[in-house]
Amino acid sequence: MTRDWNRRTQLVHEGSRRSPYGEMAEAIFLTQGFAYDSAEQAEARFQQAGADEFIYARYGNPTTRMFEERIAAIEGTEDAFATASGMAAVNGALVSMLRAGDHVVSSRALFGSCLYILEEVLVRYGVRVTFVDGTDLDQWRAAIVPGTKAVFFESISNPTLEVIDIASVSEIAHAAGALVVVDNVFATPIFSRAVDQGADVVVYSTTKHIDGQGRALGGVICGTTAFIRKVVEPYMKHTGGSMSPFTAWIMLNGMVTLDLRCRAMAESAAKIAAVLAADSRLSRVIFPGLPSHPQHALTLRQMGSGGTLLAFDIKGGKEAAFRFMNALEIIKISNNLGDARTIATHPATTTHQRLPEDQKAKLGITPGLVRLSVGLEDTDDLIADLDHALKLI
Ligand SMILES: *Cc1c(COP(=O)(O)O)cnc(C)c1O
Repeated sequence: MTRDWNRRTQLVHEGSRRSPYGEMAEAIFLTQGFAYDSAEQAEARFQQAGADEFIYARYGNPTTRMFEERIAAIEGTEDAFATASGMAAVNGALVSMLRAGDHVVSSRALFGSCLYILEEVLVRYGVRVTFVDGTDLDQWRAAIVPGTKAVFFESISNPTLEVIDIASVSEIAHAAGALVVVDNVFATPIFSRAVDQGADVVVYSTTKHIDGQGRALGGVICGTTAFIRKVVEPYMKHTGGSMSPFTAWIMLNGMVTLDLRCRAMAESAAKIAAVLAADSRLSRVIFPGLPSHPQHALTLRQMGSGGTLLAFDIKGGKEAAFRFMNALEIIKISNNLGDARTIATHPATTTHQRLPEDQKAKLGITPGLVRLSVGLEDTDDLIADLDHALKLI
């Protein structure tokens, strides 16, 4: 059947497989392995497994496969490999393709665990890593040289929401023969057009918007069939970072409502950002959807939306930020994002605590900075909660 489904249809149906019972909801194939009809069949499957033939859940599983096909369709890649967490995906995408002596260029503003992989793990195995300011194309041009194997960046950085120009960085990387690996968590699969704009490999922590209800850890690597099946799969299946079928089932169910949730959250985030931008108790409001954001035009071109996260600096520093957070009633203090529940995070003392003070200052992680992941509550209730807490700083 030739299909030309739009994204909302793909999010509901793509990749679905039904057992002979014809169940409506995707089944959880909670099985480590699969029985063969004969020894010959086992031998043949180990030689070359077909599209609907499975061997062992670490290698692949029908429920996991449904999720991989659904996310690949949404992202516009040929294939995908589902992993146990977002970090298993970042590690798997990079380590599976890199060898000692290879050169990687990465943006400096990274999620702490991503920084650990680039700064500690890769370097330990003889990979050379050059860090750049991801928003400065001249720095990418200077750092990427012929022979550079890969570039890595978060398309929107955490927590200061700098937006990196995927198309321009990809052009520079491709001219040198380097593969572009994008961690696209903050952009979400709904607002992402990373592959259209030149990315070769797109990585998600599905723990965030894809689950969307803060239940399970998961990740996924999206790319060409050759990259996913010949480079990523051998590494992941032999090193143990595959997604469990139960997690894949949670993620499949998350995807059904992903478009609706991301759009509702982004709309709410835009309204909240506009209200906060006029608030004199804050020294700055960072939201890529605000015209004051340095990459506002790029954001609209790249995502068509400002996304679901914002950050703001409370006058009065850490003490005022803590008083504000402690006064919140609906909004939870936590460190996940993309959840249906709105979450406030104080990066300087939690997610980015490990960074030395000068690095924090360089990245704009000030003592008064609060990151807000906007959820699905009523926008007016959230604005009232924020206003009430700001009155108590
Ligand atoms: C959360 C996050 C990760 C890690 O994902 P886990 O599922 O927690 O392992 C990686 N990159 C970014 C940008 C993230 O926000």
